[in-house]
Formats: sequence, C-alpha cells, structure tokens
Amino acid sequence: MTWQQKIDDALAARRSADALRRRDAVTQGAGRWLEADNQRYLNFSSNDYLGLSHHPHIVRAWQQGAARFGVGSGGSGHVSGYSIAHQQLEEALADWLEYPRALLFISGFAANQAVITALMAKDDRIVADRLSHASLLEAASLSPASLRRFTHNDVSHLARLLDGPCSGQQLVVTEGVFSMDGDIAPLAKIHQAARTRNAWLLVDDAHGIGVSGKEGRGSCWQQQVKPELLVVTFGKGFGVGGAAILCSESVADYLLQFARHLIYSTSMPPAQAMALQASLAVIRSAEGDARREKLNSLIQRFRAAVDRTDFALAESACAIQPLIVGENTRALRLANTLRRQGCWVTAIRPPTVPAGTARLRLTLTQDHEPEDIDRLLEVLHGAGQ
Ligand code: PMP
Repeated sequence: MTWQQKIDDALAARRSADALRRRDAVTQGAGRWLEADNQRYLNFSSNDYLGLSHHPHIVRAWQQGAARFGVGSGGSGHVSGYSIAHQQLEEALADWLEYPRALLFISGFAANQAVITALMAKDDRIVADRLSHASLLEAASLSPASLRRFTHNDVSHLARLLDGPCSGQQLVVTEGVFSMDGDIAPLAKIHQAARTRNAWLLVDDAHGIGVSGKEGRGSCWQQQVKPELLVVTFGKGFGVGGAAILCSESVADYLLQFARHLIYSTSMPPAQAMALQASLAVIRSAEGDARREKLNSLIQRFRAAVDRTDFALAESACAIQPLIVGENTRALRLANTLRRQGCWVTAIRPPTVPAGTARLRLTLTQDHEPEDIDRLLEVLHGAGQ
C-alpha cells in the first residue's frame, strides 16, 4: 500500500460511515450568537459556559498584559519564559483550590499528556474511566504502564481492577464532569477505592472548574474530595485557554524535572496569564455567582422543556446537555435541520463517543436568554418529528 492509498482509504472509511469531520470557519464563535457565512445562529456549541471569553475586564487584562510583556513568552519556562505573571497566577490558583502548588500548561491536552507520561513507568498501572477524555486515554495507552478501563462511574469495577496484581504504582483517572455526557463522577467513592489500595487519583475537571462549587472551585470542591492530582483547564468556564495541574510541593518539583511538555515547550504568553488572573477574579466574585445562577436557571428551563418531548434527557445537571440519537446519519440530519433553522448545534459521532450513541452535544451558556432555550426546543420539536 502506498502513502496515498493509506490516506485515501482512511478518508473513504470515515466518509462511508458518515463520520468525516470538517471544520467551519466562523466570523464569531463564542457567546450567545455564532456568525458564519453572513448568517447569525443561536450558539449551542460553545464551552464558554460563563460567557467570559468576551468579558471587558478580561479582554482589557490581556491587552494590558500584551502592552507590558509583549505577545509571546519568548521561551520555555525553564529558560526565560516564566514571568511574574505566570508565578502570580500559579499562586492564585493554588490559593483558590487549596493546594500547595499549581503548574501552568499551554492546554489541557498537554497537561494530561505531561502528567501521565512523567509519572507512569513500565510496571505501573493506569485504571481509567472508560469515558475519559481522549487526551487522558491516549497518554495512558502511549505510556509504558498498563491501562485498564473501568465501566463508566462503576466504583466496584474500579476496585476489582485495582485489586489485580501490580508490582508498581497505580493511578486512577477520571473526569469531574464528563465532556460528552455531562454527568458527574462519584469522586468520594472513587477516591476512597483508590486510597485504600495506595493508588493516587487524577481528576480532570475541565468542565466543572469555574462553573460549579463555591466560588467556582469545581466538582472536587463540591464533593469535598482532594485528589492527589487535579487538572483544570481554562478554555471553558474561564473563557480563555490553557490549563494547570494542582498538586503537592514534591509532585510539582518532580514535574518540573520530568514533564517534557513543560520543559521543551514555549510557555503560555504572560498576557494570557494576566487575562486568566482577571477571569479568576470574576469567577470568585459575586458576579461569578450571578453568572452561575443564571446558567443553572437556563439548564433547568431546558430540562423541564425537553422532558415534555420525545427526546431522551441525559443524566446531566450541568451546561452539557446531550441528546443521544443513536445513528450517525440521524444525528447529522438533526444538526443540519437545526442549523437551517438558526441554531448552531454539533453532531458528535464515534470514535469520539461509543458506536451507536451519536448525539447532539448541546451546551448552554450564561449568555443565553430564556427565549433562546424556548426557540431551541421549538426547532428541536419540529426536527424530531
Ligand atoms: N479534558 C477534557 C475533559 C476536555 O473536555 C478537554 C477539551 N475538550 C481537554 C481535557 C483538553 O483541554 P484543552 O482544550 O485545554 O486542550
């Protein structure tokens, strides 16, 4: 087989399964409205749950940061790219989440890859929730450690896997809020199962941080659980981008020695760290509370209305509200119909989700208004017939 055949075959397989992914260049993508092709759509695809991506204080902080530090960091944090803006943000994050240390990463994907590859060795074992994000599972399967997956949120299956013989260390991996389902992990029980077997727990709270818990401290805070490793990302509730790992002093020092994504990669622009500080200030403030409250009332409105239709509601009390429709073709057809009616919704298909569970991944944000939810339901109702 030639290179060209290999590429063509892979594309043809995706096309014939209605699973070919494509991107649409939008003129404006975050916020209540999405603009593309000179049209305006109600945006139900954005992870900017609190509407902070265009918050004037945060935008200004980025601009001021750029004026002060320039637009780039100039290098890896181990050379010259670690500024006082990075340091102050790390301290503020550690203080907020009550961990000894925080380390910044350029993205959640990089943070997950870094921590797993730096920690896991040949005789170790990773026991991960089957529905964990691709960045976690890919890092786990590329690492020299063995990987076992437990049935989604099933603590007894997790415990059985942890009880299997293992000569090295064990790491349990899960998410706070699952990205494609919107449901929440039973973190206290998971942590208990891990601790009694001397395993550490890594929680990726990409979708909970900023959005749930007191002052937006996320899923772990809400369940009063302190995993040994907490990954938070800033492209969703924070409205910006980047990520951090919260951990002990010694784990932070260890990662600074062995996390190659930190050592051999340009650090985030200091101006972005300034914007993240501003975003954190909003998240912790009364304004953050008001934004979370508004989002929650929109979620409740949506769920009450879907309950009165033929669509099946997922077990989700958060901003991610998937409507599972099953076949790829039906999911695509529905997404296209919704788009023609002015609602921007993405069809998520395998391999991102298990086969036969293609879905519309609807996300609500505090930028929506109650009438937007009503409009979505009206269009869904028509499209579902
Ligand atoms: N973890 C989870 C659970 C995610 O949903 C995502 C992004 N979709 C990531 C990590 C990756 O984060 P980032 O976008 O910052 O790379």
